[in-house]
Amino acid sequence: MLESPPEPVLAGPTEREWSAAVAAVLAQPRDAALLLICHVNPDGDALGSMLGFGQGLCRLGFTRVVCTFPGPPEVPEPFAALPGLELLVPEAQAPAEPALVLCFDAASESRLGGLRDRLDRSPSIVLDHHASNTRFGGVHLVDPTAAATSVVAEHLLARLGVPLDRDIAECLYVALATDTGSFKFDMTTPAVHELAARLLATGLAPAEIARRVFDTRPFGAVRLYGEALGRAQLDPTAAGGLGLVWTYATQADLARHGQRPYVLEGLIDAIRPAAEADVSCVIKQTGPAEWAVSLRSKGGVDVSRVAVALGGGGHRLAAGFTGRGTADEVAAAVRAQLATP
Ligand code: 5GP
Ligand code: MN
Repeated sequence: MLESPPEPVLAGPTEREWSAAVAAVLAQPRDAALLLICHVNPDGDALGSMLGFGQGLCRLGFTRVVCTFPGPPEVPEPFAALPGLELLVPEAQAPAEPALVLCFDAASESRLGGLRDRLDRSPSIVLDHHASNTRFGGVHLVDPTAAATSVVAEHLLARLGVPLDRDIAECLYVALATDTGSFKFDMTTPAVHELAARLLATGLAPAEIARRVFDTRPFGAVRLYGEALGRAQLDPTAAGGLGLVWTYATQADLARHGQRPYVLEGLIDAIRPAAEADVSCVIKQTGPAEWAVSLRSKGGVDVSRVAVALGGGGHRLAAGFTGRGTADEVAAAVRAQLATP
């Protein structure tokens, strides 16, 4: 189903929204069921901000803090050592009517799968940083100027009076490092480095975290990347001459190399360097005629516009959507949108 393009969120949360969020948390008895959720196929920011915040709620004395995400309850290997994973339960075990729901890094309800009904049944706080956020849920803490949802999460933790400890900091740091592309993307402001400094000061080991999160993958994945990179295509005429580089990976590719889908998360970073293309696109098969599509721009194109037009969302320079048909058909749909001024 296509989502209609939302009104862009122009500024971060208001003082009123911050106060409403603080009040909504502190009004809960310490034995209230608090449910933290994040988007399907969680990435470092979704998991890191959710688990970091969940641990913060435990530090406040809450005894029934539960974290979950829609879909198979598998944590991608790069995040399998995050502190706070003991709070995570499969979607089916999440409380049906929690006292409060906190939602992390989801731009729209469509990213919440079977968990979206919790937002109808319970009061909620939505923490996010997507300009395309559809403003679903109760209290909105949506800051499109934040480099990661973990920036918003850290701010709310501070307002709740939770001091950063090493475990909370590791989660928030992984979230910040993944969403800024290891502090390379254009949202990497002085404030981002100041937050990173405060997180590191709790005693984190950044080299070890980076090795785990970014620089470790099975040999089968290395071979699979070789195949996917070998069939990358360059279309220098796409996007009004700014250029498109794209490739795809099928479920059969994953099976042949014995790999799980998460290993393809970094594939977009492997094709992006192509200097002849402003836009890069990776089309990853998720079903017989269904694909998870990643889009990146070097600045010439607003790829969130392309993604929203095709039913997805994201940011100006990093966005995605669910594609239908064959990989070639999905690529053609992207090219058609890139041709639309
Ligand atoms: P990635 O390519 O890393 O999966 O996602 C890049 C950005 O696009 C993320 O901010 C993510 O939230 C957004 N995104 C990716 N896939 C989808 C999708 O299917 N729907 C929506 N609404 N956003 C997506
Ligand atoms: Mn994010």
